[in-house]
Order: sequence, then C-alpha cells, then structure tokens
Amino acid sequence: MLRQYELVDLVKSYDPYADEEALNRAYVFALKKHGSQLRTSGDPYYSHPIEVAGILTKYKLDCASIVAALLHDTVEDTDTTLEEIKNVFGEQVAQLVDGLTKLAMIEQKSGSSKQAENFRKLLLAMSEDIRVLLIKLADRLHNMRTLGFCPPDKRARIARETLDIYAPLAERIGMEEVKDEMNEIAFAELYKDAHDSIVARLNFLREQGSNIVPKIIKQLEKDMDDNGIKCTITGREKTPYSIWRKMQLKNASFEQLCDIMAFRICVDTVAECYQALGIIHSKYHMVPRRFKDYISTPKPNGYQSLHTGVIGPLDVRIEVQIRTYEMHEVNEKGVAAHWAYKQGQRTEGKNFRWIRELLEILDQAQNPDEFLENTKLEMYNDQVFCFTPKGDLIGLPVGSTPVDFAYAIHSNVGDTCVGAKINGEIKPLRTILQNGDQVEVLTSKNQHPSLEWDRFVVTGKAKAAIRRYVRINKREQFIALGKEILEKLFKSEDQEFSEKLLVNVLSDFEAETIDDIYAKVGEGLVTGWDVLRVVHPGYRQSKLEKVVKAIKLPVFKKNADKKDSLKIRGLIDGMAVHFAGCCHPLPGDRIVGIVTTGKGVTIHTVDCASLHNYEQEPERWLDVDWGPDAENEKHIARLKLMLSNEPGALANVANIIAKAEANIMNLNITYRTLSYFEILLDIEVKNVEQLNALILALRAEKLISHVARAT
Ligand code: MN
Repeated sequence: MLRQYELVDLVKSYDPYADEEALNRAYVFALKKHGSQLRTSGDPYYSHPIEVAGILTKYKLDCASIVAALLHDTVEDTDTTLEEIKNVFGEQVAQLVDGLTKLAMIEQKSGSSKQAENFRKLLLAMSEDIRVLLIKLADRLHNMRTLGFCPPDKRARIARETLDIYAPLAERIGMEEVKDEMNEIAFAELYKDAHDSIVARLNFLREQGSNIVPKIIKQLEKDMDDNGIKCTITGREKTPYSIWRKMQLKNASFEQLCDIMAFRICVDTVAECYQALGIIHSKYHMVPRRFKDYISTPKPNGYQSLHTGVIGPLDVRIEVQIRTYEMHEVNEKGVAAHWAYKQGQRTEGKNFRWIRELLEILDQAQNPDEFLENTKLEMYNDQVFCFTPKGDLIGLPVGSTPVDFAYAIHSNVGDTCVGAKINGEIKPLRTILQNGDQVEVLTSKNQHPSLEWDRFVVTGKAKAAIRRYVRINKREQFIALGKEILEKLFKSEDQEFSEKLLVNVLSDFEAETIDDIYAKVGEGLVTGWDVLRVVHPGYRQSKLEKVVKAIKLPVFKKNADKKDSLKIRGLIDGMAVHFAGCCHPLPGDRIVGIVTTGKGVTIHTVDCASLHNYEQEPERWLDVDWGPDAENEKHIARLKLMLSNEPGALANVANIIAKAEANIMNLNITYRTLSYFEILLDIEVKNVEQLNALILALRAEKLISHVARAT
C-alpha cells in the first residue's frame, strides 16, 4: 500500500503545483472513515481507495481526481455525507464522488436490467465529466486484481461485467494497458480451460524457441541502424486473451496465428515511420492483408500506428507496429494522456462523439436489455472506415451496411435512405461495406425505416432507430406496404383491383377489415399471389410463372404443400427449397435465397462466399428468413477440425458431440500428417446456437487444435 507521503510525492512529480494539503487531508479522511472495515482479502478497506489513487497517478491525473479516488467509497460505505465532502474538499471533488457513489449503489443490485441501468448512469456521469470514468476504471481494475478473494459466484459476475462493459470502455478511451489487464484477469476467470491451454502452449513455444524475442529485436535494430533510422524496439508475446479473441474472430488455430509475437518500433517523426515500414517490407516477405495504416486513418479512439505482418528474422511470422514516441504515449494512455493534470480544466464528456451516440441509443431503446445489447454491439466490433462523398471519415463496425453508414451520419439520413452508391456504383442496401469505400446515401422523403433492415444492420444506433420506428409504426407500415404490393401486383397482371373485391374474401384470410388483409400481406404472412388467386379464382397464367418457366424451375404448382413456407418465410408458393452445400445454413444464421435454374430456391448464409457469383443478378435474390417450424427439423452443419494424431483424439471428439446432443452424420479425413490430421464432420443440429455451444466445447479440448464451420 502506498504511504501518504509516497502518494503526495508521486502527484508532485508530474504536477509541482498540486494541492498537497488536499491530498493529505483526503488520505487521512479515507483512513479514518473506513476505519476498521476489512476487504474480503482481509486487508484493511482503506487500502483499496489508496491503491485506486495510485493507479491514477500513473496516468498523471489532476489533483481533484486523485482526491476523489481516495474518497470514492466513503459516501457509499461509511457515514460520510456528500455535504461533508463538499464542505471539506469543495464542489468539484463532491461532484466526482457523487457520480461514483450513484454508480456503486446500483452496482450492488444484480440482473441485466440493473446492469443496464448502472451503465446508463455511468454514461450520464461520464458525459458530465470524463474523469468519473477514469476513476471508475481504476476502481474496477483494482477490484479485478483482488478478484481471487471474492466468493466464486460473485467472481464470475464481476468478470463478465468487466469483459462486457469496462474493458471495452477502457479500449474506447484508448487506455490500452488497463483494457489488457482487465481482459486477462476476466478471461482467466471465465474461461479457465481455454486460458490455461493457451498459456501452456505459449510456454511450450518459449521453451522450444529458447526465447527468440531478443534475437529478433537485435536483428530489427540492425536493419534500422543500417539505414540510419534511430529508434527504440520492444517485443512481446501477445496476451492470451488477445490470442483467444483472434482464434475466434478468424476461426484460426493457435498455429495459424501469425502474430503470437509483436514488435514495436518507436521513432521520432511520421516520415521515419514510413521509412521504417519501407525497410521492413523490402527486407521481409509481407503477409498479405495484414498491413494497416492507422496513422493516416486513426482509430476512433485516437490510436495511431502502422501495423504490418511479415515473415521476419529467423523466418518467424511476426507483427510489427511502427509509431512515433508521441503517438505511443497517446496509444497507451488514451484520453488521460491528452488531458492529464491541466489544472482546474474540466474535460466534458459531451465532447466525445461516441458518448453522445451511446446516449442517443439509450434514448431510443425500449427497455434496458435492448439498450445493453445495442451498446455492447457498438463497443465491441472491430472497425472499417468509409468515406462520405465529401471525404469525411466514418468508422463503423465490421459487417456494416450502407444503412448503418446512413445512421452514422444522422438519424434523418438513416430513416429516409432508399439506396446507396458505393464507389460510384448503385448497390443494394444490404451490401457489406469494405475499408476505404466511398459511400453516397440516396434518400427520399417518402422512405421510412423498414423492419427488413433490422436483419442486416449491425450498429447499435441503426438497430435502435429501426426498432423504435417499427414499434411505433408497425401496423401502419404493414398496411401501407401490403396495399402497395397488392395494387402493383394486380396492375402488372392486368387484373381488376378494388376494395369491394377484397371485402368479399375477408373470411378467406381470417380478416375482419381490408386493412387486416393489407397488414398480413405487408408482414409477409400472406403473399400478394395468395390474394390474387382468391380474388380472381379463374386467373392462372402470371408473369412470374412465365419467368419461372423461362429459367426452367422444375417445381411450381399451385397447391404445393405448405411445409416449406413454415421453414422459410418470404418464398413464393410452390418453389422447392434447398439448403446450400457450400455454407450449410442453420436456423439462427442470417440467410438469403437465390433462385437457381433447375433447382428452385437455394438458401445461403448472407456471408457465403459463393454469393459473389450472383452479384450482377439482383433479380435472383430473395429476401428470406427462418420460419417458425425451422427448428423442428434437424439441419446438417459441416465442421472442419484439426486433431492431434494421438490415440483417443477421435473418441474425445465423438464424446463431446454426443454430450452436446448432436449426431455425427458423416466423417471424412481430408488431410493427414505425422502429427495432425484434418477432418470434415457433418453434424445434425437444431440451430446455430447449439452448433456454437458445440464448437466452444470442442475448442476447449486439448487434442483439437482448430475447429470452425467449413465454408
Ligand atoms: Mn471502490
């Protein structure tokens, strides 16, 4: 534990004008107020606020923050009142402590709605003064460091919350070190097996390679020196948590990850960054698609660096990060580095666009769970960067579409978007944006958010806005849409259309009013063709049937059995359904239908690579979704596994699959070496959830080095 004079010295080392007296008073105040209270570790309670204050000195925070850190639990846990704090330490400190106390009080309660409420309070407090967040993060970091002393059930909850909320927040404001430490501790707590297995493998590598990090640093230093670049190079293994995340994100095995080791080159100027990059790239083979230029395009949290992957010295695959010393300082300390101890200056969180955005989502969410879901989405995802026609940069999560882009510009743009030009070409709204795309959103006053969009947008902001609109306007929207569908269809088929005709068939559709029929059509429960055939029973030949004949669909009969439509919504009656063998879609996957010559409709997952073949033929794309009966039927999923060539490996796989209540339908050994073999497994499962649980279980098994859905 830091002693009183040590803490004061620390603060004075970076802020010679710090209010020494206030620091002393706060230290003693915390000591006295917490008195004989104990932490679960058995340490005196006051050690906690003092450690939290100590963490913050690393970030050179101003005196008021350090004082508030010392006092942060007094109002919550002792007889201290806010009045008292205000009288003794002044208004500013009192406000910070108040923000932290309100958070603590809700934190005691559990359940996701309380957690969301807590998060909401945190956001609001942050938007008043970002220092509340900095202190809160230090508080949580110290609690994580002492997590081992908590009872197990509490431990898991705290670790989960840290992983879900606090670590992403730390990342969002650029506090890399805090984020890394939080993630490591939480990971070890929540996924002990995976953690231990990665640590064991790292140890194994280290023993085998007899510590090659210094050797690689030495070679890189020589490379730079030969070219007259002055620099500092550090090297390290990536953290087990970041390795684990990469394994999940890239569906890669430990062995396939190229950047178990990362090296950092710090230089004086931006020009030298690019020179250093040139030296690395000319000497070593680049690993394709690993290069990222966060100097010309910084991350939203301000992070700047060049990243590249190469086959480096000793023929080892490494990641190299190149940056200036100044960038490095900001990258490690984030918001805190920008701001530090500038006396009396308040950094209002309002100035941070992302906090405003989170608060906006909060205003639109219907309930806390939805809010939490949307904001988690917002904080988690890795970014792609796109440009407006004017060249403004918009950062979005990977997988974002033009609709997400439109909402990121402004809610109004999102609400009224009808189409998008990507790099000058008109593309469907569901198109997934790529890094560097220039996106022009086309809008129309008559457009409204559509429930369809909810299936493909990924940003929390877009999801919240769409759901809110749909909640309010659902029925009206369905009615308008249904009416439009019917009018268009009847007209294009040259059939009479009037409301009088519809009145006669109300009972056929279990409808009481014409609007009910419209709404059903709009919602997709009944198709326009159903209505047309009932209203005009003599009607047969349709354009659609002509089209279907022209592309030689084998199945199109009027009274096809209804089974398929219960599995898949959005199909045209009578079309045969197939599930694509390339991507093996499962209920829960996002899907599209492709009308295929001679086959009917083939269902693919939206990210299936084979969809590229149909990009030029939008008329073949059907917007479909899983129907209510989809899960009553078993679906085949295909997994690719890499197993150690050891006795028992296959038996273990079979065991895990049986435990997950899935069936093996087929097994194929596709590749075999002395130490490994690769198999393709066809497995019968209900839905994607069951499959994901199974994949996680398989990943935890030692003899399996790689598990992924085969595509
Ligand atoms: Mn605390």
